[in-house]
Amino acid sequence: CGIVGYVGPQDARDVVLEGLRRLEYRGYDSAGIAVVADGELSTAKKAGKLANLEKVLADRPLPAATVGIGHTRWATHGGPTDRNAHPHLSADGTVAVIHNGIIENFAALRGELEDDGVEFGSETDTEVAAHLLARAYAGEPEGEGRLADAMRAVCRRLEGAFTLVATAVAEPDTLVAARRSSPLVVGIGQTADGTAEYFLGSDVAAFIGHTREARELGQDQVVEIDRTRGLTVTDFFGEVAEPTAYTVDWDA
Ligand code: GLU
Repeated sequence: CGIVGYVGPQDARDVVLEGLRRLEYRGYDSAGIAVVADGELSTAKKAGKLANLEKVLADRPLPAATVGIGHTRWATHGGPTDRNAHPHLSADGTVAVIHNGIIENFAALRGELEDDGVEFGSETDTEVAAHLLARAYAGEPEGEGRLADAMRAVCRRLEGAFTLVATAVAEPDTLVAARRSSPLVVGIGQTADGTAEYFLGSDVAAFIGHTREARELGQDQVVEIDRTRGLTVTDFFGEVAEPTAYTVDWDA
């Protein structure tokens, strides 16, 4: 339902939670957040209102981080439980993913993964993307290098409507996102001292408090956001693509 991402010098925990609050108007049944810090992915997720997630975070704070993702879920596959809340992690804990939309061919993909010994932790369609990403990333069956390459390889296998955002332990300064028939906007900003920072949102409300410079991703595009290299946008096959640039001119 709602998607937020951040990479930059601010504390990602705060920026992502604030973004989720700004997306509450969309309606949701559960919420979650993941950050990469100290060579690990840490997540917190909870069914119900954002206040429930905030309570979990108060009891068991996530580590401070400069990259983070957050999700408010409107369940389509699997009930609105803590386990089914996003982010979903790969079995080895190296990749986290959030998803808006529906992966239509998830049952076939899940069967294939289960035949290969992968154990699922949720009933969602989303979780197949987490396992497929980690496997593509690790070179099974066609690993190509970076998380963005893995995302392109996985997107070529998915049917349906999806916005996916992923983060990986091995790339702590990177966010990767993809979209088909589901919206995704990138915000490009800078802090008071001029340091670049980047935001992702299912709509600009997620980051309007921070920047008005935005890029809207086109159909079947993947964006790789690196803190130092900035944005690289391609199609699902790696051909360089152009997102639509615009300036948000309405008030928060
Ligand atoms: N289909 C996914 C799920 O049920 C994502 C739903 C959403 O867009 O929030 O978990």
